[in-house]
Amino acid sequence: MGNEREMPVHRIVVVGGGSAGWITAGLIAASHARIPDSPIEVTLVESPRVGTIGVGEGTWPTMRSTLIRLGIPESTFVTECSAAFKQGTRFNGWIDGGQNDVYYHPFTAPAGYPDTGPASCWQQGRGDLSFTDSVSPQGMVCDRNLGPKQAGTPEYAGILNYGYHLDAGKFANLLTSHCTRTLGVRHVQDHITTIQTADNGDIESLQTTSHGRIAGDLFVDCSGMRSMLLGDHFGVSFIDRSDVLFNDTALAVQVPYSDDSAPIASQTISTARDAGWIWDIGLSSRRGVGYVYSSRHGDEDRGREILEDYLQSTGAPAGAGESARRISFSPGYREKFWHRNCVAVGMASGFIEPLEASALVMVELSARMLVEELPANRSVMDIVARRFNDRFRYRWARIIDFLKLHYVLSKRDDTAYWRDNRSPDSIPDSLQELLELWRFRPPSQADFPHVDEIFSAASYQYVLYGMSPDSARGQYQPAEANRIKARQLFEKNVRAANQCLATLPPHRTLLARIAQHGLPAAG
Ligand SMILES: Cc1cc2nc3c(=O)[nH]c(=O)nc-3n(C[C@H](O)[C@H](O)[C@H](O)COP(=O)(O)OP(=O)(O)OC[C@H]3O[C@@H](n4cnc5c(N)ncnc54)[C@H](O)[C@@H]3O)c2cc1C
Repeated sequence: MGNEREMPVHRIVVVGGGSAGWITAGLIAASHARIPDSPIEVTLVESPRVGTIGVGEGTWPTMRSTLIRLGIPESTFVTECSAAFKQGTRFNGWIDGGQNDVYYHPFTAPAGYPDTGPASCWQQGRGDLSFTDSVSPQGMVCDRNLGPKQAGTPEYAGILNYGYHLDAGKFANLLTSHCTRTLGVRHVQDHITTIQTADNGDIESLQTTSHGRIAGDLFVDCSGMRSMLLGDHFGVSFIDRSDVLFNDTALAVQVPYSDDSAPIASQTISTARDAGWIWDIGLSSRRGVGYVYSSRHGDEDRGREILEDYLQSTGAPAGAGESARRISFSPGYREKFWHRNCVAVGMASGFIEPLEASALVMVELSARMLVEELPANRSVMDIVARRFNDRFRYRWARIIDFLKLHYVLSKRDDTAYWRDNRSPDSIPDSLQELLELWRFRPPSQADFPHVDEIFSAASYQYVLYGMSPDSARGQYQPAEANRIKARQLFEKNVRAANQCLATLPPHRTLLARIAQHGLPAAG
């Protein structure tokens, strides 16, 4: 037994060929491809009978460093995945559902961040400008459908911070060819029928329909919502969080632009509706639109009506919503993510809802931790597993808090969905505590002390002051020196915004230029 536990971890088997499987397999392979004679072998098994979820088109800026680590040039990615640049999210109708109900959560941090002085001073001396427009040019840039960089800006660099909107199917295809041809991942297209257990209770191998048994030292469960290894096989329980976040159904559709010159939005547009909200994601080739809602608060017929109305109001052809695909999910996550020699990544580990695109970033963070802490042998695996579980339990809790914040701050009173979302027993204690603190001071880094926090204090400031600008008015007493500094930052931001508006190209033009000429290589 002692010897067995000292056996090195060489054979890594990834189950699933969706975004989670390929990102994880690719990042592990890329980190070892650089080590001469590395003994690590990565195999990815994907069932031809079970399709990928086919949604998941909004990313965080973290995707840029993931693509760099994978060794994929940005112009290749943008062109082959029909990708577009995402600079944040515009929220329509979330505050009270009125005429001017719009705010932005941009990706570029507020001017002066992490200093909270500007946020405090904005509260006290608030003029006509919203918080976002006072501390970042990005909302104004998005309003005009401009890109975050120029055609001459090198690959993966930006004038403003950005992630992407991508075609999930094309992304999986690009990752498949890159990971197999360049990074040496072995790709097995076969259905896994059973799982064989070793004497110690670990997974020994996977039985496939026509490739026999696939043995491994570490198994990564990227099998999607079913969670075939961690959930089905090991029985690790699922923590249902529908008590906090109610959405459990989506109607998703792909629609063409009204014409070839229609502007391409450079932000996800998130529009609040009766029992949920609509995402609108602009790619270079089409839009991806969907209504995600709570089936306890609205039925499918009404959902289809709401989606069709939205599509019509945004220039889609009549009946565009008819082909919308229904996807059901349970908001929640596994009690642990790494159990014995199996770690779950992606939908197999959990999913809350599409708001703020937190799923792919969790995939990226999981894969990075796996790469950085890949256990040398079985005997240290349990230590790594415990660390992994602690870190990701914390992250899921933070995601829940941040997503819930969007609902708690809403003043919408038109349906039970919005009222129920403010019910105190649906708000986690951790969020209630933060909201209490933020009555007297802005969200600060001290509130989120871990490395690689999934949502920083900057994100909380944008949402808090976007939705509730008067939340702490009169409570802060910024010193005169801070007020002067903040005023200078606000003025500098106006100059930066003017500069961006004068020099950044229309998003559609930028994407067309990249398709034709590529981007200059990074220096
Ligand atoms: C409505 C909706 C909208 C979303 N929007 C976003 C978003 O904007 N941004 C974001 O970050 N995330 C989003 N997500 C989440 C995102 O789609 C997923 O996190 C991402 O696509 C990863 O999925 P996956 O790879 O874990 O699973 P899947 O794509 O479901 O892949 C599962 C894989 O497992 C394989 N498999 C299953 N059973 C077997 C078997 N027996 N043998 C062999 N292989 C098997 C399948 O063949 C498939 O390849 C959204 C999710 C939903 C539901």
